[in-house]
Amino acid sequence: MRKTSKREFQAPATIKISFQPIAIALSSKNVTGFKRMPLQTIVVGAGLAGLSAAYELVLAGQEVQVFEAQERLGGRVHTVELSAGQYGDLGAEFVDDLHTALMAYAASFGLKLDPACQFPNDLYWYDGGMLKNQESFSAEQRAAQISLFEKLQLLVEKQYDPQRTLDEWLETNELAPFAKWIARLSARSLFATDPELIGIGFFAYYSNTLGASGCNMRVRGGSSRLVDALAKVLGDRVHIKTPVRRIKQTENNLVTVSIETANGLVEASAHNVIVAIPWSVLRQIPIDAPLTNSQQVAIFHLPYGSLVKTLLQYPYRFWSKPNLGITLLDAEYQVMWEPSFAQMGTERILSCFSGGSRSRELSENAVERAIATVRTVYPEAPQILTSRSYDWSADEWAKGAYCYFRPGDLARFDPHLTQRAGQIFFAGEHTAPVEYRGYMEGAIRSGHRAAQQVLESLK
Ligand code: FAD
Repeated sequence: MRKTSKREFQAPATIKISFQPIAIALSSKNVTGFKRMPLQTIVVGAGLAGLSAAYELVLAGQEVQVFEAQERLGGRVHTVELSAGQYGDLGAEFVDDLHTALMAYAASFGLKLDPACQFPNDLYWYDGGMLKNQESFSAEQRAAQISLFEKLQLLVEKQYDPQRTLDEWLETNELAPFAKWIARLSARSLFATDPELIGIGFFAYYSNTLGASGCNMRVRGGSSRLVDALAKVLGDRVHIKTPVRRIKQTENNLVTVSIETANGLVEASAHNVIVAIPWSVLRQIPIDAPLTNSQQVAIFHLPYGSLVKTLLQYPYRFWSKPNLGITLLDAEYQVMWEPSFAQMGTERILSCFSGGSRSRELSENAVERAIATVRTVYPEAPQILTSRSYDWSADEWAKGAYCYFRPGDLARFDPHLTQRAGQIFFAGEHTAPVEYRGYMEGAIRSGHRAAQQVLESLK
């Protein structure tokens, strides 16, 4: 949903690799064999960051082993099946038209991208019992929105990261109530956090989102198709149900990771380790490595937003326009849209998104509350056929949705996010260039960068 600035990305060179069936490829066995020989590179985590790092290293002729804690690959990419052959994404879904690294992968794996929304017209605000988009804003609302964007843009141009939260900044700037309302709503709905927590500097980087032009897309079949494609190439280099419990750099410049397996803890050593897991999880793993103080502070303190995503499948479309667009609303859920727009069948799915402290109040009633939220806007909504809901803060291996930055932390942490610590390299959405953080694009780009760092270290 957020719009990003343009950076060109080169498609990876096409190299012929024989594909293995995925069922054979994924293994949690044979891990004990790693005890004896130092590996070239170990990747911790098989989300898009870890998988793309491993993929790029394999393309470059390197030997890689990937250890993934869960039985399922993809981490915060998680496509699920619903009834009538339809599907939805409980994690990442939208691909912006500037997400060129992801688009290059999709093209090279033969994956199709379906259109999702056109901006700004498909972006709606539910305000005072009415759905409004930019065309139906009053003159005052339009002026308020423009004034907000101009003030945010000024911060971006000055590369300024003040010691203020979004909320504090809104209160000390002369902004109309409507401008404050859309800014606060955006913090919850797009950044999965509260306006009292997010730094204004980080928020400002995405200021052009709210009224941006352009379009976004979805991977046909769901975002997990991209994960499947990468995993298929990597084959039996990927090991599931193998959480890494400790990382230690030894005196001979090898890195040893302790891996939990069905047969107990196993140690594997490698010349390089790419750690591609969220720092919300990493800070609970002992790391014995030459980390700088700043790196330790960033790993320990980088916050992650809270997010509940609920999919509701309905027997038919009950809204008038073919594409529901993206609706922002100030309720228990703050965004809803239709992921089934380009899918076959008469059944329709609505995706409901609740971020920040409000998501933590949903607890076990997440589905009922999503249904109630939809009925606030569409009282005629019929009974649902089926539903799926996921609370990302409760996910043991994510512990949150995606990273955000508190006041001043963008400037403080940025130089340290991509820094290696001895033979340990870092990948993951949180280590991507700022405009791609919180995106699949960021995860992929971070994987490319970490792979490149490893290759350069070998020269
Ligand atoms: P992850 O996907 O979290 O991968 C990390 C992997 O490491 C996981 O598989 C995890 O199980 C594993 N792991 C963790 N700890 C260990 C350990 N100790 N040992 C071994 N393995 C471990 N992005 C978009 O581009 N568009 C969207 O529309 C979008 N919507 C989103 C909606 C939601 C609800 C969420 C949660 C995210 C969304 N994102 C979206 C963001 C996107 O999902 C992430 O930026 C991206 O998938 C992160 O990939 P990653 O590889 O950095 O991390």
